[in-house]
Amino acid sequence: MLKKSFLGLTNSRIEYELLPVKVPNPEKVAAAKTVTLFHPKNGDQSAAPAFQTGDRVKTGQKLALYADDPAYVISSVTGTISSISPYSGDFGKAYSAIAITIDKNEELDQSFDNQTPSLDAVMAHLSFLPGNPVYSALADPGKEIHTIVITGVNDDLLISTRQYIVSAALDDIKKGIGILKDISGVDRIILVTAGESIQGYGHIGAEVKGLDTGYPAALPQLIMKDVLGEVIPAGRNCEDLGVCFISAEAVASIGKAYADGRIPVTKILTLVSKDGTQRLIETTIGTPIRDILDKYGLAINEEDRIILGGPMRGSAIYSLDHPVGPDTDGIVILDRTDAAYTSDYPCINCGDCVRACPARIQVHMLVRFLEAGQFEEAADNYDLLSCIECGICSFVCVSRIPIFQYIKLAKYELDRAQTSAAAEATETTEATEAMEATDA
Ligand code: SF4
Ligand code: SF4
Repeated sequence: MLKKSFLGLTNSRIEYELLPVKVPNPEKVAAAKTVTLFHPKNGDQSAAPAFQTGDRVKTGQKLALYADDPAYVISSVTGTISSISPYSGDFGKAYSAIAITIDKNEELDQSFDNQTPSLDAVMAHLSFLPGNPVYSALADPGKEIHTIVITGVNDDLLISTRQYIVSAALDDIKKGIGILKDISGVDRIILVTAGESIQGYGHIGAEVKGLDTGYPAALPQLIMKDVLGEVIPAGRNCEDLGVCFISAEAVASIGKAYADGRIPVTKILTLVSKDGTQRLIETTIGTPIRDILDKYGLAINEEDRIILGGPMRGSAIYSLDHPVGPDTDGIVILDRTDAAYTSDYPCINCGDCVRACPARIQVHMLVRFLEAGQFEEAADNYDLLSCIECGICSFVCVSRIPIFQYIKLAKYELDRAQTSAAAEATETTEATEAMEATDA
């Protein structure tokens, strides 16, 4: 068990967690009665649902809401679907929450057995894995990916999930690296680890690079700069430069899936209690946060805050029924007296955010346009798209302006506007082509 006060973050240099040489195994936490899985809603919702309340499901079974739905979840338990209800995530992103009542007699779904590794196979079966791998860049012919970076360091403070995976699941990571190379054709794979700890990885089939332990060195944009020597121009991303990122847990999960012939369904995460105590735990994907807190007798009082992810970049949740997802690397519980509540105070131009920003953005100017909802102006003239989303500006702001949340909302809204403009342009082109074909 590791112990560190959340208030330790007020040091002038803030550091990632480094694990002790001998890492204790995660404690197992079981879901009490149900699990809930968030299925993204982006399929053809006019089609007939592929399953419904009352259906039985097996552990490892793929659940896509509609026929031909590209999105899916993997049932992490054997049981009966008890409800399917709408759920609104960050910024109103739509999901269907699929609740499954657990049956004690586990049955394993066999459909992944004997799958030959291929990009199509991993996209069809291994997207809802612990570590949340995303394969879209590898499948996009417009991206020309030449390097895959495996992140063995968590991108937020107090969270040591990926550091643990690198120390404990090296054989699975090695197998996952071999599969990634085969299915993507990408030869250059780099594993980034914490600090100077790059000894002992000679056999894994990837270059190994140690990262600076000062936050926010593990964010992709800084890994690009510090490890690969590439600076990402504003408005572009790592994939535009031919580099895609995947977490160490996702790579280990791919390796384990093929080694065992079954899809892994348990998630490693770091639980940080109010007193700063950190525990590594392993639980079934979909387990309600309430079950984890109950196991350790952690009481939540009014106005305490529960954050999924880490203290700098995570998102607050408002229900103890919220489940652990494939990407939940951390749960941080803050006492109401430690939580940095936002305020209505105006910016006092102290300049702290500007001095602290690693992207050298004039944050005090940017925030004025974000507060006014002028997102395009913020992107065009105040470097919104150069922000690497470290959250340091919110952390240092004396007026407690929720700058980081404004930035995420602005980027989300701009992205949404761009996507719907692109969809409209495609529809117009298709309609014009159809008319021309009819005329001809
Ligand atoms: S989150 Fe704030 S401090 Fe971090 S890069 Fe963006 S503007 Fe700068
Ligand atoms: S830290 Fe907050 S108050 Fe100070 S200049 Fe930045 S936005 Fe304004």
